[in-house]
Amino acid sequence: MGKVYLTGAGPGDIELLTVKALKMVQQADVIIYDRLANPTILEEAKNGCEFIYVGKEDGRHTLPQDEINETIYQSALKNDIVVRLKGGDPFVFGRGGEEGIYLKERGIDFEIIPGITSAVSVPTYAGIPVTHRGVAVSFKVITGHESPDKKESQVDWKSLKSNDTIVFLMGLHNLEKISSKLIEIGKSKDFPIAVISKGTMKDQEVVISTLENITKDAKDLTTPALIVVGNVVKLRKQLNWFKN
Ligand code: SAH
Repeated sequence: MGKVYLTGAGPGDIELLTVKALKMVQQADVIIYDRLANPTILEEAKNGCEFIYVGKEDGRHTLPQDEINETIYQSALKNDIVVRLKGGDPFVFGRGGEEGIYLKERGIDFEIIPGITSAVSVPTYAGIPVTHRGVAVSFKVITGHESPDKKESQVDWKSLKSNDTIVFLMGLHNLEKISSKLIEIGKSKDFPIAVISKGTMKDQEVVISTLENITKDAKDLTTPALIVVGNVVKLRKQLNWFKN
């Protein structure tokens, strides 16, 4: 029986993979990977390593999560080193917790290798610090997958009235509803918002706008994309450093 490494692949730029993740990719007998894990990483695998793609396209899962769990488990029964490679960090909207619990219940040993999460690094590559002295003393990372109109939403929208930074993952398709909702809870129409697409990669695109205009301004952006709301967005003027 083998061991599973629930491994964060970082946000996209292959150099943002951790040393530990790279080491395990090089030793793996099987790599089970997602759409968001940069496929160039797979070139680091040893000869004979098996690759299993279980990617998800924006909510449309190629494999349901329980089948992914089972695939990881079955691979661990047949191999020594199984790397489950996931975009960003496995525990930030990565369902790494569910995979770990599934393995634990079946007596499979696992380790978790954290990754650089897109929630922080993608804003960084756009010159937007998620906290900044005198501007934002905290940041929240929220799923944007759920529509703000949804009854019994698990997101506490009213709590987002403060001036702290909000990062929405998986929210591009709900951009219009999210920005309208933030206006509805009391943020001003000209409050700063950014959408960053393909962050940390050479084709990264950044649109800076206001809650009122972002939907129209960001209409051409494609996934993966995240949304940053807050006065920190304005710091990009001075801190933009990334040259595509
Ligand atoms: N575990 C991942 C997040 C998984 S949810 C992490 O820690 O980064 C997937 C969402 O992450 C996407 O819908 C998008 O909002 C965001 N995302 C991931 N990579 C991104 C990138 N390179 N640029 C912009 N957003 C990204």
